[in-house]
Amino acid sequence: MPSTTLDLVHRPAPVRTDAPQNLAGLTRAELAAALAACGVVAPEKARMRASQLWRWIHHYGVVEFDRMSDISKEMRTRLAEHFIVARPEVVERQVSRDGTRKWLIRFAPGVEAETVYIPDVGRSGALCVSSQVGCTLNCTFCHTGTQALVRNLTAAEIVAQVQIARDDLEEWPSPKEDRRLSNIVFMGMGEPLYNLDHVAAAIDIIADNEGIAISRRRITVSTSGVAPELTALGERTQAMLAISLHAPDDGLRDELVPLNRRYPLETLMAAIRAYPGLSNARRVTFEYVMLKGVNDSPAQARALLKLIAGVPAKINLIPFNPWPGAPYACSDWSTIEAFAAILNRAGYASPIRTPRGRDILAACGQLKSESEKLRASERRRLEAAE
Ligand code: SAH
Ligand code: SF4
Repeated sequence: MPSTTLDLVHRPAPVRTDAPQNLAGLTRAELAAALAACGVVAPEKARMRASQLWRWIHHYGVVEFDRMSDISKEMRTRLAEHFIVARPEVVERQVSRDGTRKWLIRFAPGVEAETVYIPDVGRSGALCVSSQVGCTLNCTFCHTGTQALVRNLTAAEIVAQVQIARDDLEEWPSPKEDRRLSNIVFMGMGEPLYNLDHVAAAIDIIADNEGIAISRRRITVSTSGVAPELTALGERTQAMLAISLHAPDDGLRDELVPLNRRYPLETLMAAIRAYPGLSNARRVTFEYVMLKGVNDSPAQARALLKLIAGVPAKINLIPFNPWPGAPYACSDWSTIEAFAAILNRAGYASPIRTPRGRDILAACGQLKSESEKLRASERRRLEAAE
């Protein structure tokens, strides 16, 4: 007889049709439409009201209608009957010895992703956001790649990661200068170009001048190389482009980044050269993870130079961040420096990315591992209780 098990972790939440709609991550157009549709705001006033609410939500970071002081008390009460402005739940918050912060955010039962804030030198810092929970690609050096895709994040869920970081950094209203959170990088979990609609809508919200107002030049989207989507990414977002290259030839890249078998280097490089807005002032960043004895020889550095010749570029060398069971080791420091020197001599800026937040598993490619472990132990507990 088949046995029935109660899967508490993945059971969808019951749908409440009367649940108030969350306005926190809507685009301007969606916000105006929601206001017009609810019957509280006259259709001809919907755009004006949307602008008012937009400033409170995205410039001031307010989550209570009662604090929206230029809206009448009566209107605030009526809005609160139909809507909420809310954040998803932060399940865990960790702060590293080096100041890196990591939040594990639960968007829905079983839908969790991590966001990492990396303080930079001076007063600025970057937020590394996730675009998917898990990933469909299986890059062999990446821990996220060992975890199946749960689903794409919505634009609202991507924006919520920025809002949660700004809540925690106490950075409301949006400062004009001296920001602690000055840059956004789509380098968390997932492949952003497999979720371009939501990523583009999220960037529209984050970059809006009357809100969070992070300039598109300070927003970088990293892709493992979904060549046919690059033009659309540039046209729709004007974001800076980062390419996870990691190998200078198809043979090795096929192995490290299996997507290369579908979009080999010739196809990928042609798409990069055609990236809208690419210039010396807006260079592409090539990311190159340093794997001991795999992709770190002087000959490979020279092959890399040949491959990217003529492309306005900088190269980020990323020391490999190990994870349990990983089939690679990080290159020796002297090897990384020798590799960087070859690129430097050819005129490329090639900073070696200092690993940040390793003690809280917040470094590149380590995301989600800890929460997976927690979930596994939670599962075992549940199984034992049955
Ligand atoms: N999916 C996108 C964006 C997320 S990955 C992409 O692949 O570009 C962000 C960056 O971290 C990528 O350059 C990825 O190659 C790198 N990375 C993944 N695992 C890593 C690891 N274990 N150590 C160092 N960098 C890693
Ligand atoms: Fe996915 Fe990027 Fe990791 Fe590759 S490196 S498995 S594309 S998250």
